[in-house]
Amino acid sequence: LTFIKRISYLLCLSILTVSIIQPIASEAAVRNIRVGLASNAKSLVVSSTSSYTISDRNGRKISVRGNLHLSASKNTTTVTINEKKFGLPLTLYGKGLMTFNKRKYRGNFKILRGSSGLTLINELGIENYLRGVLKMEINPAWPREAIKAQAVISRTYALKHLGKHSKEGFDLCALPHCQVYRGVNAEDPVCDKAIRETRGSVLTFQGKLALTPFHSDCGGATADVSTVWGGHLPYLKAVREPVQDASPYASWKAMIKTSDIQNALRKKGISIGTVTGIGVTQHDPYGRADQVRITGTGGSHLMSSHSFRMAIGSNKIRSTMFTISSSGTSGSYSSQTQKSHVNNSTPAPDLSFIDKKSDTLNSKEAKLMTVLVKQGFFNADQMIDMLLHPEKKKAYLVQALERKPISREVMPLTSTHMSGNEFIFTGKGWGHGVGMSQWGAKALAEKGWSEKRILDHYFPGTKLTRYY
Ligand SMILES: [Zn+2]
Repeated sequence: LTFIKRISYLLCLSILTVSIIQPIASEAAVRNIRVGLASNAKSLVVSSTSSYTISDRNGRKISVRGNLHLSASKNTTTVTINEKKFGLPLTLYGKGLMTFNKRKYRGNFKILRGSSGLTLINELGIENYLRGVLKMEINPAWPREAIKAQAVISRTYALKHLGKHSKEGFDLCALPHCQVYRGVNAEDPVCDKAIRETRGSVLTFQGKLALTPFHSDCGGATADVSTVWGGHLPYLKAVREPVQDASPYASWKAMIKTSDIQNALRKKGISIGTVTGIGVTQHDPYGRADQVRITGTGGSHLMSSHSFRMAIGSNKIRSTMFTISSSGTSGSYSSQTQKSHVNNSTPAPDLSFIDKKSDTLNSKEAKLMTVLVKQGFFNADQMIDMLLHPEKKKAYLVQALERKPISREVMPLTSTHMSGNEFIFTGKGWGHGVGMSQWGAKALAEKGWSEKRILDHYFPGTKLTRYY
């Protein structure tokens, strides 16, 4: 052997010796969490802020420094590092912080063979995991008791959902699907303090970890879980907020085109033709819209307003604490768009669009027909006759208008709004409304409420418990 080769051989040996005696850092299993940072990646580049050890499934170890490039081919079960083969899964650990995608992480990395690529997992203690989560969920400038309440909620969520991604080999993903986790880059001294002060604290109900959803702003009162995701939980009922918060989402307005609503519903498999009206059919005691009926030229569809909101877009219709009105020329039936009355008698609506010469209904006539049917303008025999002879609809419509004067008041159902070019949703708050309202918690903390009192308010009947 040449001198250089002999030196490198010795170096390699000493590295291997060092790595064998270095233990894998791990805490008690229940306090650890496996967070998926990448799933089924074609390739991965990982590193560490110092030298680190790679250990494979056979206990084979190597100590390395700098970037480790791994790429997956079909049925990859081994990877080559420094010309040596290592069997997946791999564990990467060291004294420094592990790095991936320019972000630093505490704890270890694990690399597994996923169903179609490589999966990168960050394994670390739950308290350290929370340090990479909390700032993504709440503003560190907010009052401490609100941040502590959020820490308890995030910890409870993590512990309750351990194994949510077990099919992929980890507990939670690092995305909004679970909880956004950004590792060391997201750590903040204020959040760290709130985590330390609530160490191990969780919310339980009847001795089990509670379900702890939260949202930005409930708009005055929270939502009952049954109206959003279904199911009944005694601690996820609608509760009114005792103080007014200063949320930037306190009121909002969304103008949604009728065609956008039609398209969004069609994507959900709901085909009711041209949308002609939307009405809230059920409210909760605090004014939240629980259920809506969408009427179209081809039928109507009843759905929870939460599903409706999700179908249209949760960033457009920010909450279900909304009322509906309509705009556009053909939307003039809506009580919301009534002009001020000149005298006490209700002016008749403009019916100039009725074309008595044609036998078929034009679109405005069809919309009016839908409303008249709903208002009970026709008896059962007439309805059956129209069903069997659609060509008679026009005659029935004209007849109905002549028989009974139509006022603006009687035409729409109280909260159904006829379609113009768009529907206007006027609402309060942002989010699904279940569990803790973050802006509400902030307002309560500013009033001097403790983290426990805030959590008792939003999750009544739960217990603040030390889990470990
Ligand atoms: Zn997830």
